[in-house]
Amino acid sequence: MQQDTFRHQGMRNRLVSLLREKGIHSKDVLAAISQVPRHLFIDPAFESHAYQNKAFPIGAAQTISHPYTVAFQSEAMSVTKGAKVLEIGTGCGYQTAVLCEMGLQVYSIERQQELFKFAQRKLKELAYFTKQLIFGDGYKGLEKEAPFDAIIVTAGAPYVPKPLLSQLKIGGRLIIPVGEKTQIMHLYERTDQKTFKKQTFGEFKFVPLLEDKN
Ligand code: SAH
Repeated sequence: MQQDTFRHQGMRNRLVSLLREKGIHSKDVLAAISQVPRHLFIDPAFESHAYQNKAFPIGAAQTISHPYTVAFQSEAMSVTKGAKVLEIGTGCGYQTAVLCEMGLQVYSIERQQELFKFAQRKLKELAYFTKQLIFGDGYKGLEKEAPFDAIIVTAGAPYVPKPLLSQLKIGGRLIIPVGEKTQIMHLYERTDQKTFKKQTFGEFKFVPLLEDKN
């Protein structure tokens, strides 16, 4: 089995310094990134690059997000320990582990069976306890567990799915990259039952949030 060593910890510390230089301030986010062994979520062939700010293939034609993107989205959620959050696009489970490490109650949805199984096994092996990992379609959100303090979408959405907005608590936030080839990061804050405050950030690049049209 692959190990987590002092050498990996040293690389994570350097990654955390880089993220701080790039403008990530949240202590909870930086502490989580300094703890989660990202190299154990990717193919051992990429291990030497695991703590650089890079994306990698994770199977099923998907990619693990850049550490900066993970940090940026986690910070934008503006949540504190114990908050109930929903992630769309579990992938290999790295972002999920970061959210668990931040002390959040994490629900996460993945539509690819292979990745769903991988993340389930990996998170268990590394003792990250999620509230629920769901094999299904993230466009629908998770009505039966709603409302959420925050929802994070980790795939590029062609539009903002309505159920995700309606499953936010008042004061809750949805962080979602919107666009086809490249995406603009959008942040929606629910200010009351019917009103959302929208902010946009820079350009990011994600694999697409796929819709099952049937
Ligand atoms: N959070 C991951 C990012 C994975 S890439 C990380 O930490 O690296 C995005 C993931 O979204 C892929 O695994 C893809 O299969 C998944 N995805 C795409 N469309 C989806 C949908 N409609 N519902 C749920 N997951 C979806």
